[in-house]
Amino acid sequence: MAGLRKVLELERTKKFANSAVIGGLDAYFRRYLEDNPQPSGQRLQEVLRLLPDRGYMALHPIQRRRVVEELLATLDEGIDSQGELSGQGVKSSTGPSSIPSSSASRPASTIGTLNSPVTIYKGVSRANAAKLTRLGVQTVGDLLFHFPYRYNDFAQVRPINQLLINQEQTLVANVWSASATNIGRKKGTEAIVGDETGTIPVIWWGQTYIARQLRSGMQVALSGRVTVFRGRRQMENPEWEPIGAEGIHTGRLVPMYPSTEGLSQRLLRRLAKEAVDSFADQVADPLPNGLRQRLDLLPIADALRQIHFPDSWELAEASRRRFAFEELLYVQLGVLLRRQLWQVQGQAASLSLPEAALAGFISSLPFQLTNAQRRAINDVLRDVARDVPMSRLLQGDVGSGKTVVALAALLAAVASGYQGAIMAPTEILAEQHCRTLSSLLSGGQETLWTNVYTPPYLDKQARVALLIGSLTSKEKEAAQDAIARGETDIAIGTQALIQGSVSFPRLGLIVVDEQHRFGVLQRAALREKADAPAHVLVMTATPIPRTLALTVYGDLDISVMEEMPPGRPPVKTHHLRPDQRQKAYDFVRRQVAAGRQAYIICPLVEESEAVVARAAVQEYERLYRHVFPDLRLGLLHGRLPPAEKDAVMRAFRDGQLDVLVSTAVVEVGIDVPNATVMLVEGADRFGLAQLHQFRGRVRRSEQQAYCLLLSENPSIEAQERLRLLETVHDGFQLAEEDLRLRGPGEFFGTRQSGLPDLRVAKLSDVALIEEARSEAARLLEDDPDLSRPQHRALAARVAQLWEHLTAEVS
Ligand code: ADP
Ligand code: MG
Repeated sequence: MAGLRKVLELERTKKFANSAVIGGLDAYFRRYLEDNPQPSGQRLQEVLRLLPDRGYMALHPIQRRRVVEELLATLDEGIDSQGELSGQGVKSSTGPSSIPSSSASRPASTIGTLNSPVTIYKGVSRANAAKLTRLGVQTVGDLLFHFPYRYNDFAQVRPINQLLINQEQTLVANVWSASATNIGRKKGTEAIVGDETGTIPVIWWGQTYIARQLRSGMQVALSGRVTVFRGRRQMENPEWEPIGAEGIHTGRLVPMYPSTEGLSQRLLRRLAKEAVDSFADQVADPLPNGLRQRLDLLPIADALRQIHFPDSWELAEASRRRFAFEELLYVQLGVLLRRQLWQVQGQAASLSLPEAALAGFISSLPFQLTNAQRRAINDVLRDVARDVPMSRLLQGDVGSGKTVVALAALLAAVASGYQGAIMAPTEILAEQHCRTLSSLLSGGQETLWTNVYTPPYLDKQARVALLIGSLTSKEKEAAQDAIARGETDIAIGTQALIQGSVSFPRLGLIVVDEQHRFGVLQRAALREKADAPAHVLVMTATPIPRTLALTVYGDLDISVMEEMPPGRPPVKTHHLRPDQRQKAYDFVRRQVAAGRQAYIICPLVEESEAVVARAAVQEYERLYRHVFPDLRLGLLHGRLPPAEKDAVMRAFRDGQLDVLVSTAVVEVGIDVPNATVMLVEGADRFGLAQLHQFRGRVRRSEQQAYCLLLSENPSIEAQERLRLLETVHDGFQLAEEDLRLRGPGEFFGTRQSGLPDLRVAKLSDVALIEEARSEAARLLEDDPDLSRPQHRALAARVAQLWEHLTAEVS
């Protein structure tokens, strides 16, 4: 044993020249295996069997180095497992998936702790430290978790005469000459390097200092692409390092880190290497052993080593998977803990609608419920009948008929002697709910404002009040008083309804409409505003892909209405070329002449509301002066005062405008059955889900509706994306596609998702998300507040993540 270790260590000091024993290492290995057939030879044999046919001798020094390190690591493990020689380096808890890693064999250095500043390392000047801080890296621990965003595959080592053009690879050679030169008008370093198969010129543009670092006779590894210049092969701007150095820039999968101006990859790599070597083993693994083994996840120390300096693509992926899972687990634990918190905070009122009343309600409707509506009503009524507060999300395309479902729940509140509130994001939508509700309660007549209904199926009155900002203060006061005295059963309004001074003595149910822009924390805040635990029903028209439903909406149960009421033809959608704009305008004009109305959506110039508004004003003026001077045009954008916004919307709804020019604010929309055209400018700037929302606005009646998509210079991908809308009318399918193409930030609008930053995990990782979900549930079932000692690290991470998020939202 000691013999082999000595030989390997000597080989290391001899820079892997195959000279540690006379006759070379291959012969020695053979003898060793003959002498030690069992049992400790087992693992060594495995490693040695991986050597190529021609043996150790045929390897390049870089590859030899890996073999030697691996063998040494194997020896260390053998000794540890026999309990001898304890104190040989820090040992990580090795699960079934642990891997022998070259760096694992080095004893941990003892300077500093995980919390030491990065300046403990050589080469980190104050200026560099400041730059690192910009990357979020202040401590050694931060360095460990500053992960590469990709790797250069320099693992292929080739002799010079076998180098492939235009491919990433590594060569090991001697420096013949190196000097700073001017090549044309460009400064740089030019070197000639050679091995036993030939020579090749190497050029570093701009980096004249390299000439001072390369001495002739030096053995170096060079990694990069080989190009051909004037018929001659050369290597341009390769990564390089002397043989026998750390082996982190060449000859392997080389990490590339997120960086900032003036911070070199070489420095980042070196720091990562130091941090990993000395501290990876000191990081406590927050994942409990059992869970890790069940899911075959790497232990944290191995995962840290492998995510920075992977030994193979498989191990790079395995380490990524481990950290991705960890992130997703924290998200799931966070949402589930929150949900638990609401549920134990107190009892909600048990609300029920007697069966006969439900039947009466359904038969009083002027239409047949769709099956999707029936299912959703069942889900909701079952939830509110329990005294555990409901947290349900009702998803359904625009026009799928979500309001009826909400009304069924509100009636359950009324029948049980409780109050219900329904909140909309805008006043005009609140008004619209009021109309819809009153029409549904009175069997078809629409009335507005405070009203009292006595539907035959209910053995009491349903008193409805609309509470919005545009009421006179007297009206407002009257409504507020009625609510406070318990004389109002159903209150309809904007969010101010439960955020303001209004108090509900018997609030049993809150319905929140069109809240797809609300994250988990906003919902938490909403609940806290209600005095006692109330049931909450959230309604959204944004189809939410399953992965997001499990994360952003992970605290909610979900009902999906994937079916539209019959008799509404899908919106005919056309993606037009820029030169067909006039045709589009002519079409709008013809529809208006036939008595219909149209929306024109302005391009999304950028995220700034002010810029978008200015662009909308310009577009409006252009259309008004030059295109539709004879039509009645209205303008709507986010910068208008709320009262003005509502006035424009009302005018459009009441048919006093032919064309509504609008920014995306119309997305949170309103029911104008007479509008049949949705023309979207700069359509390539919008996501598929959002475009689908736009066109949902015109799918409101039996009339054939149209959606015209215009874009200036769409890329090929954008054109393909837009063409998808012509044939796909399923919101979920489009949403999945959108999420895949643009990612969650874009999908929800930046920062509004209420989702913690995912640095490693991807939301396309459905299987991993589902695993995280079920593991989180299992953990909480077993230890509801994560108070067991083995869950302490986990609880701390979850708390940290959500605290950070809370700070961001407030
Ligand atoms: P959304 O899901 O967009 O909120 P609404 O609840 O506002 O949809 O319903 C849109 C319109 O469809 C309303 O006029 C409503 O009365 C009508 N509606 C709802 N359900 C049905 C149905 N099953 N059959 C026919 N019309 C329906
Ligand atoms: Mg609605």
